[in-house]
Amino acid sequence: DVSVDIRALTDGYKPYRWQYQKSNRLDENIRKAAILRDGSKCMECGRANCRLEVHHIKPRRRNGSNTLDNLITLCESCHQKTEGQEELYMDRYFSLLKSSDHKNLNYAQHVMIGKKWLRKQLSNLGVLYLTNGGDTANKRIDWNVEKSHANDAVCITDLQPDTYDMKEWAIKPMRRKSKAKTDNVLGIRHRDLVEYTFKNGETHRGYVTALYPEQKAINFQSPTKHCKKVNARKCKLLWKYSKIYWFENAS
Ligand SMILES: [Zn+2]
Repeated sequence: DVSVDIRALTDGYKPYRWQYQKSNRLDENIRKAAILRDGSKCMECGRANCRLEVHHIKPRRRNGSNTLDNLITLCESCHQKTEGQEELYMDRYFSLLKSSDHKNLNYAQHVMIGKKWLRKQLSNLGVLYLTNGGDTANKRIDWNVEKSHANDAVCITDLQPDTYDMKEWAIKPMRRKSKAKTDNVLGIRHRDLVEYTFKNGETHRGYVTALYPEQKAINFQSPTKHCKKVNARKCKLLWKYSKIYWFENAS
């Protein structure tokens, strides 16, 4: 859905369950909503594109709440300055929040309206569950798994943590070499996926990197070998180039 559960902005919102167990851990929906509201920048010095932290204006030890109106976005160094003397900054930060127009949050709420139509269409196809970036992060932190696309995908599906050991795949756009004088050898073109078995019995699969029309030969790159000038007649064409390709991430 979206990066933040808009319900996090209203009174009826129930934070992620760790809010009741570990009170020092801020619910990710609320944390992200605060950063979004503050335009992803430090409200004190205006710095952006740096590590941003969410500060309790009225400190937790004085029963300051985990609600948006008690949270403000600060950069690391502005946050450090407040340490141990939060009270000195309270009035200033509360009035900073009051004077901010919150248009970033209005925008997020606006986007939600457009999604109602899509939700309705999806509900017609099957059972629809909604989740969001904040709760994905909540689960990832709760389960103590590292941030990756695959792990986030498992967190989104609400599977159990022991299912998260997944392979990472990358999908990339691929361009054909357009300057090449010849565009095919026996119908095999740049970036096509081919298979070739060498005389020693080793079979390699990979993408075509060069064409030699006179010799009816091609080069291709398999995961382990750069196969040079192999006989195009003995190559099996497995897959014709299209705009994307995918591969298993090494990491
Ligand atoms: Zn700052």
